[in-house]
Amino acid sequence: MLKDVYGKSLNTNIEDIIKKYSNMNTSELEPRRTWRGFKELILVDKVKECEDIISFYFKDKEGKKLVKHKAGQYLPMKIKTEDSRYNEEIRTYSLSMKPNEYIYRISVKKMGNGLISSYLHNELKIGDSIEAMVPTGLFVLEDNKKDKPVVLISAGIGITPLISMLYEGIEDFKNVSFIQAVQNSKIQPFNYDIRKIAEINELKNYVFYSSPLEGDVEGKDYDYTGFISKEWIEDNLDLNSEFYFCGPPPFMKNLNKSLIQLGVSRKNIHFEFFGEPQLME
Ligand SMILES: Cc1cc2nc3c(=O)[nH]c(=O)nc-3n(C[C@H](O)[C@H](O)[C@H](O)COP(=O)(O)OP(=O)(O)OC[C@H]3O[C@@H](n4cnc5c(N)ncnc54)[C@H](O)[C@@H]3O)c2cc1C
Repeated sequence: MLKDVYGKSLNTNIEDIIKKYSNMNTSELEPRRTWRGFKELILVDKVKECEDIISFYFKDKEGKKLVKHKAGQYLPMKIKTEDSRYNEEIRTYSLSMKPNEYIYRISVKKMGNGLISSYLHNELKIGDSIEAMVPTGLFVLEDNKKDKPVVLISAGIGITPLISMLYEGIEDFKNVSFIQAVQNSKIQPFNYDIRKIAEINELKNYVFYSSPLEGDVEGKDYDYTGFISKEWIEDNLDLNSEFYFCGPPPFMKNLNKSLIQLGVSRKNIHFEFFGEPQLME
């Protein structure tokens, strides 16, 4: 059974969630230097985002501060159980939370009979632990380019590092565009968060549905039917931006090709694969 402590309001105010868990021991040494190998994190909340994605909120088992990750980084982790099927099975999940020192959120898509995603969805309960290494990864917002426009593009579960970048980027960068491509409203995570952010910030927000449901209304629930095309990018985005994207390999390859063809410099293109890195061209 899922426990949804916050109900729909969970996603409305990420600051409140951070505050709720910020009552921690602050007297310790800088946490990154003391986090060696695996550390036990305890599950404090489990929230369904859409049909096949659940978010998991973790805090330090001893109530100490965590390492403030960089938006876009991921958490290497393993399950803590006696069951030998899971021994030494390490997976990585991008942190989908606004970077902070108190609470980590990962958002996991159930992959068929995938070992760890199924365990997390079906077995892991509030109060259970996982073991995690310090957040890592090079897919992060380029700090020294704060004056440049930023374009964040996600498809499917590839949204997780990008929503973290959105929480951070909307405060620190001048001109942010967020593009979400999904099949339809049933499998559209964080719709509510993104709309809220767009309401109170200057965010250019675009949603693509590739297979809208009967009740999905273009112009209301989403902006465009189909896939993100080269022509759409040319007409709607500033090609002088820093581009960050993540999603399934065909989406990534098409997007990369379109950007290059439109003359975007490779040094302004940043991406993350959720699997084996693949050749983009
Ligand atoms: C940098 C990075 C960040 C990531 N971030 C996220 C994230 O934010 N959210 C997220 O959901 N995922 C993320 N992933 C993917 C994640 O790490 C896992 O790869 C994913 O959850 C699948 O793991 P699993 O153990 O459930 O599946 P596995 O057991 O590893 O199986 C992988 C796939 O193979 C299929 N499969 C397994 N066994 C068989 C079989 N015998 N026959 C046929 N098919 C089979 C499964 O159904 C599944 O689709 C990320 C990956 C990387 C590299």
